Amino acid sequence: MKIFNTLSRRKEEFVPLTPGKVKMYVCGPTVYNLIHIGNARPMIVFDTVRRYFEYKGYEVQYVSNFTDVDDKIIKKALEEGVDAKVISDRYIEECKKDMAALNVKPATVHPQATKEIDGMLSMIQTLIDKGHAYVAKDGTVYFKTGSFKEYGKLSHKNLEELQSGFRELKVTGEEDKEDPNDFVLWKPKKEGEPYWESPWCQGRPGWHIECSVMAKHYLGDEIDIHAGGEDLIFPHHENEIAQSECANDKTFARYWMHNGFLNIDNKKMSKSLGNFFTVREIGEKYDLQVLRFFMLSAHYRSPLNFSAELMEASKNGLERILTCMEKLKELEAAAEGAAETCGEQENLAQAEKLRDKFEAAMEDDFNTADAVSAVFELVKLANSTADSASTKKYVSSLRQMIGQLCGVLGIITERKEEILDSEIEAMIEERQQARKAKNFARADEIRAELLDMGIALEDTREGVKWKRV
Ligand code: AMP
Ligand code: ZN
Repeated sequence: MKIFNTLSRRKEEFVPLTPGKVKMYVCGPTVYNLIHIGNARPMIVFDTVRRYFEYKGYEVQYVSNFTDVDDKIIKKALEEGVDAKVISDRYIEECKKDMAALNVKPATVHPQATKEIDGMLSMIQTLIDKGHAYVAKDGTVYFKTGSFKEYGKLSHKNLEELQSGFRELKVTGEEDKEDPNDFVLWKPKKEGEPYWESPWCQGRPGWHIECSVMAKHYLGDEIDIHAGGEDLIFPHHENEIAQSECANDKTFARYWMHNGFLNIDNKKMSKSLGNFFTVREIGEKYDLQVLRFFMLSAHYRSPLNFSAELMEASKNGLERILTCMEKLKELEAAAEGAAETCGEQENLAQAEKLRDKFEAAMEDDFNTADAVSAVFELVKLANSTADSASTKKYVSSLRQMIGQLCGVLGIITERKEEILDSEIEAMIEERQQARKAKNFARADEIRAELLDMGIALEDTREGVKWKRV
């Protein structure tokens, strides 16, 4: 299996640290808002990487964090006049709902930065003791980039170039930095911010240290794969390497994988351009399986352009697969006792070749675009060869194969039962009646049942409103 490693800028053969096992860490979102469709890209592509390893029989330990202490979370908490934890807890829950709707498997562990402060204090102390970090007058602790000879190895930046580039860029409040490339491990609290006690000052951790510590806690000093969006290569991942390798004296991650960016109509997604979409918003227009399928239609390292036309194309493509699977299911139920023909054996051999093609694409740095074409070829084979004269064995082999390969891509091939608006409204009416009769237990039960069906209710002055979530 070949993986493009950002460290070497080459495709390398994947050799796990322990045979049969994969330890993966994927940088997760900062939880101050609903996730946007750009954030969904690493979730979907690295979930697919994980699923492929599992399909090949590997045991995968998959860790993905939630950054729950950050300036943006604090700002939002101040705006709403609530604790930062209220904001981060809310958006962690919402993010988990979006992940489920995108059929992204829950990670083995989803650590949260605020629950790992002890580990951070301990790693920072180790870095100070080893001469890789220093404490400034105000209690800020900085990592001394000059102390790590390999600084820049991931982003392929040269420390001296970086220094000259930074020379004029003194950041206010960071006057005590010995070198402009040094970065914060721990910083003093500001009024109204969450803080923790530490030997250096009451304060909070810098962003980079959290991932080094959480990876170490749940996966150990050495991991197989570290992943995230390409914007994280520098400084986040470069700094993670510096911290982890200086503290642990081990190579941190063997393979660094980075997804390309998702743009909208060929422009960078941004709130100010008005082309910013949350996963929730897209979920109101499309089944989120379509978004997942769309994301996998390109290679994960390529930039990907999101547009209504491309989403429609993905919707049609997915529809073709679902229709084929439905037809195979019906044929399988009806096919009793037909005799096998030699044509079926040849066709199954052809199907096996297409499975090989799918695997070869995935083993070539997870080329999901080519893997999806192999699935379409299988669908074509099934559509042109399976009919009422086919044997049960033949139809079921094709159905299983398409289902299994789609499963590797995280695509569910069973068509969802469409819940009709009229059914929802009948249940809402029943809930209203229960409330009138002061049977609140039943009313709550109906609300929960609806939520299970993906319908959220909101009681407003104008009456009950509902939406699909
Ligand atoms: P953040 O919450 O900004 O730290 O982002 C969480 C993850 O989403 C990181 O891996 C980012 O690299 C990734 N990400 C953010 N925006 C995009 C985008 N437009 N396209 C692809 N990945 C993105
Ligand atoms: Zn990270």
